[in-house]
Amino acid sequence: MSYGDPSRYIQQIYVTEECRDNDYAREIIERSRLPFTVIGNHERPDIPGRYPDNLTHGKHHLLLSRYRGQFFKPCPATREYTCCDYQVLNIGMGCPMDCVYCILQAYLNNPWISFFVNVEDLFKELDQAFAVNPETFFRIGTGEFTDSLALDSLTGFSPHLVNYMRDKKHAVLELKSKSVVIKNLEGLEHGGRTLVAWSLNSPPIMEREEIRTASLEQRLAAAAQCAEWGYRLAFHFDPIIWHDGWQEGYRSTIRRLFEVIPADRIAWISLGALRYLPSLKAIAGKRFPQSTFFYEEFIDGLDGKSRYFRTQRVEMYKLLADELARFTAPDTCVYFCMESETVWQEVFGYTAHDKGGLRNMLDQSVR
Ligand code: SF4
Repeated sequence: MSYGDPSRYIQQIYVTEECRDNDYAREIIERSRLPFTVIGNHERPDIPGRYPDNLTHGKHHLLLSRYRGQFFKPCPATREYTCCDYQVLNIGMGCPMDCVYCILQAYLNNPWISFFVNVEDLFKELDQAFAVNPETFFRIGTGEFTDSLALDSLTGFSPHLVNYMRDKKHAVLELKSKSVVIKNLEGLEHGGRTLVAWSLNSPPIMEREEIRTASLEQRLAAAAQCAEWGYRLAFHFDPIIWHDGWQEGYRSTIRRLFEVIPADRIAWISLGALRYLPSLKAIAGKRFPQSTFFYEEFIDGLDGKSRYFRTQRVEMYKLLADELARFTAPDTCVYFCMESETVWQEVFGYTAHDKGGLRNMLDQSVR
């Protein structure tokens, strides 16, 4: 059963004193028709209980505030694995959906969701980054610390981003989601500079471990609709999780994907096996005692995260890569998120380095 628009989970809005007269904050509050409370600039929304036990309750609460940090920066990847040189645009933190494996449970120590309303500063930062590096091609994503579209019916932010990106010849924006809140993307002049992306998984994982997300069929229908509106698409099989029947599960998702989506609309597809900070296991284990996938055997990766043994990862990757190879268009880039050159070689028979580097492979697929 799908939950529908995840922003329905929000029950209370907070706005900081300094943002109470911000036009954008007022627009969001009006649109939401939810009760709102003004709090001090350094005050915290009043959420009962202690972190992380109050995480579930915290997801009912949205804080509209000013972000004082850097909106736009490189993805915090690790040197030990092949990374894709992604740039993160930080529009907010937290998410109304609740995936058992979500790394944000361990990364963020606030139970509430934040959305940053000083968007003029965000666009100023982008302007500066593009001006200072006119030759650099930027692949930008907003889905690092939140879901790109889950709150879009409240915030209405995607049209601002899509319109801004429209004429940026040296950049593409990827809006990545597990929701199907795409209404605001309709009818926009996107100039091909925005891709819409969905995370996919084996059906039992989506049903059991991704709470309040859209079903596979809904995600694919939304993707097909975006393709009709002229957007290019991307898909992420991440995290790939070892479970009973995983082979048939992942095969069936891939087959269904290509039954619904025209292969030539897909710019890239990533593969990433489950990896997690050790602290996540304790937090998620307590919040979701019925989930068992954290209790497989794992090793400590070079980045300090727990991951499956290499043989196990390669076995899973090979099955997915073989199935994908049957359907993908020649220009679609299939790649690993944070894997070693050894794994690339074992699964694909080449490394990213052989193809001019992962950054180059991905840039070519959207240029
Ligand atoms: S959709 Fe993404 S951000 Fe939201 S809970 Fe799931 S993994 Fe976390």
